Amino acid sequence: MANRIIMKTPLVEMDGDEMTRVLWQVVKDRLILPFVDLKTEYYDLGIKHRDNTKDQVTYDSAQATIKYGVAVKCATITTTPDRMKEYDLKHLLPSPNGIIRGVLDGTVFRKPIFAKNIKPSVPAWVKPIHIGRHAYGDIYKNSELQVSEPGLAELVFTSKDGKVTKKTIMDMPGAGVICGIHNLDASIKSFARACFLYSLSEHVDCWFGAKDTISKIYHGRFRDIFNEVFNEEFKEAFEKAGLVYFYTLIDDIVARVMKSNGGMLWACMNYDGDVMSDMISSAFASLAMMSSVLVSPNGLFEYEAAHGTVQRHYYKHLKGEVTSTNPMALIFAWSGALRKRGELDNIQSLCNFADKLEAASLGTVESGLMTGDLVRLADPVPTVKCLNSNEFIDAVAQRLSDTLAV
Ligand code: NAP
Ligand code: MG
Repeated sequence: MANRIIMKTPLVEMDGDEMTRVLWQVVKDRLILPFVDLKTEYYDLGIKHRDNTKDQVTYDSAQATIKYGVAVKCATITTTPDRMKEYDLKHLLPSPNGIIRGVLDGTVFRKPIFAKNIKPSVPAWVKPIHIGRHAYGDIYKNSELQVSEPGLAELVFTSKDGKVTKKTIMDMPGAGVICGIHNLDASIKSFARACFLYSLSEHVDCWFGAKDTISKIYHGRFRDIFNEVFNEEFKEAFEKAGLVYFYTLIDDIVARVMKSNGGMLWACMNYDGDVMSDMISSAFASLAMMSSVLVSPNGLFEYEAAHGTVQRHYYKHLKGEVTSTNPMALIFAWSGALRKRGELDNIQSLCNFADKLEAASLGTVESGLMTGDLVRLADPVPTVKCLNSNEFIDAVAQRLSDTLAV
């Protein structure tokens, strides 16, 4: 194909599972390959290959991201006992996102994809609510035990020089469960820095909430580090930009977010960010209407769809039924990664292409052509038409060709 945009450095491509794996290929074939001489280093993170390599492929893909700097990831199944049976797996493997985030560290930034004709379910939200999710530690890197008899559960820390510090968790009167989690000052610091930098670059206030009244040491450490980093490095820049940072209890943040007009970065600890971003994207439109990027403290970027593998639609697809699965988050993962590659390699045409791909996708939705998840939420003007996934991607491709031809 003539005149395709030439890339310099490959993107790390992490393929995934089920419906998103099916759409991944269609998005590439219809929306990228006709226009870009795509260079990727491909890693198959499909569940069978992860199982066969005992997750080596997942670690390799994370290392490749350290090497090249930019990755794009499809949604992947996190193994559960049910999935082991379903796919005849040998290992109960940890979450691939957990592994990759554990290697790269950093913060995941999520932002609703705002279409003019889709009204959020909270009418006051007229501006996007951005989520900054800490991507390291807590329950995503925990150690858990189930015990079947009474006994003493303790926290034990042994320092490098052999000094032992112990604390009782619970003198357990019977069977139960125990969980040990951790975080690192360095990671919390880079989380705070990433959030403040993001606030400044997107020109939005930064709100951070945790549960320091209950978890006085663990959550309190997050609060203190955020305050230190803010006061030492960002206070002046925020004042100059007319922006605000504050910390308050997560409960209070939730109440304030509901009453707000949006337009802030909500910095969340790992678990809070996981669930709150699903709530925010669903309330703005659909799980598929949210972009997501992991930014590591060393300047590495991994773009992904925040939703899962859309299992229910995949089962229909396997039965030969046509599904109306929304590919927007997958498209925005590719456009985000291509734009970042363009910026790093100084290829303006690649950045322009990413902008046009996003505009064509959004323009298609705003013209009234959309997938089923959006139809019931959309303003009826212009006339709304429900398309299946392939029809929607074709409509985007048509619009993209038209804009690129001008
Ligand atoms: P899911 O794939 O996000 O889907 C949940 C429901 O949300 C779907 O059944 C569908 O609703 C709707 N939905 C999500 N994405 C959509 C899209 N693009 N277009 C239209 N509707 C969409 O979550 P799940 O079914 O709970 O999880 C499936 C698998 O994904 C699990 O194995 C889980 O481990 C994995 N997962 C992966 C990631 C990741 O890799 N980033 C994240 C979360 C979950 P309707 O059925 O009502 O249409
Ligand atoms: Mg989630």
